[in-house]
Amino acid sequence: MTVLVTGGAGYIGSHMVLALVEAGENVVVIDNLSSGFSAMLPQGVPLFIGDAGDENLVEGVIAAHGVNAIIHFAGSVVVPASMRDPLGYYQNNTMTTRNLLAVAVKCGVPRFIFSSTAAVYGNPERVPVPEQAPTRPLSPYGSSKLMSEIMLHDTAAAHGISYVVLRYFNVAGADPQARIGLATLGATHLLKIAVEAASGQRPKIDVFGTDYPTPDGSCIRDFIHVSDLAQAHRAALAYLRQGGAPVTLNCGYGRGYSVLETIDAVRRVSGRNFAVQAAARRLGDIMTMVADTTRMRATLDWTPRYDDLDTIAAHALAWEEKLLRDRHGTLQQALSA
Ligand code: UDP
Repeated sequence: MTVLVTGGAGYIGSHMVLALVEAGENVVVIDNLSSGFSAMLPQGVPLFIGDAGDENLVEGVIAAHGVNAIIHFAGSVVVPASMRDPLGYYQNNTMTTRNLLAVAVKCGVPRFIFSSTAAVYGNPERVPVPEQAPTRPLSPYGSSKLMSEIMLHDTAAAHGISYVVLRYFNVAGADPQARIGLATLGATHLLKIAVEAASGQRPKIDVFGTDYPTPDGSCIRDFIHVSDLAQAHRAALAYLRQGGAPVTLNCGYGRGYSVLETIDAVRRVSGRNFAVQAAARRLGDIMTMVADTTRMRATLDWTPRYDDLDTIAAHALAWEEKLLRDRHGTLQQALSA
């Protein structure tokens, strides 16, 4: 009973691996280390450095470790980057998932959990967004994930795989004990940029769009703490082990905060008053994205522990400050190795 985590050395994947190890599960990781770091993995977790779409590699790992569930995180996640390099995103997200599914079928792996995204919805007609809302992605990133979802659905129906698709809203924060966190170089996500500003690593933060028809003019997002998200995956695994039917679930807290409110939370928890500058809207951005979490809460045995913006900001900041303090120390060396 081993769980294969693809992308397990990345931001969300590493929190998943930690949660599984702490729950006593056997875990094996495949990660090409394009944005992840082996230093994010707990001691003793086998890491195979390579592509989740490399069918020979994956087949060997599944056979050697008795894998009977796959949690597939490996992929690219930046909306603007996907606008510049659509084929790269279809390769790294869609094609990789296709190959991974082919191996899952070949090896008879019965359970599959897939990292999807709220970006599949495009601009929602209403918020909070339920799972049955139309899927009209505005970016190749969203399309690449939606295409993967469709492949999973069809493959599962044909070959009897049970699956859970988790559509993440905005994942943020870090391990509450600051053992791991977002270490990806050049990360563009709002809270990461804000904690970099709060810790003096950048002079200011730009707010991309202050003229949206929202209460304060900035975009609105539903932030979910990465450790709560990892626990949601554990609950999804338990659901599948109990024979749960294939399902697609939104993952958020069901509450929205504006970009400006989020920046304020970082100012508040850090006590630092960094500069905030209005900037032009960012291509591909969706105005308001908040999850309807009704189905997720009804399906999974899951209770969030960190449903609080200040807590999320504080954990992101604590991790960022640890990275900074350790700049010339072992963690940074391990991360840049
Ligand atoms: N954002 C911003 N300044 C930044 C980074 C992000 O104003 O330096 C905004 C971005 O335009 C979007 C929101 O914050 O409205 C969330 O962006 P992020 O990239 O974190 O996640 P996304 O929702 O695009 O997946």
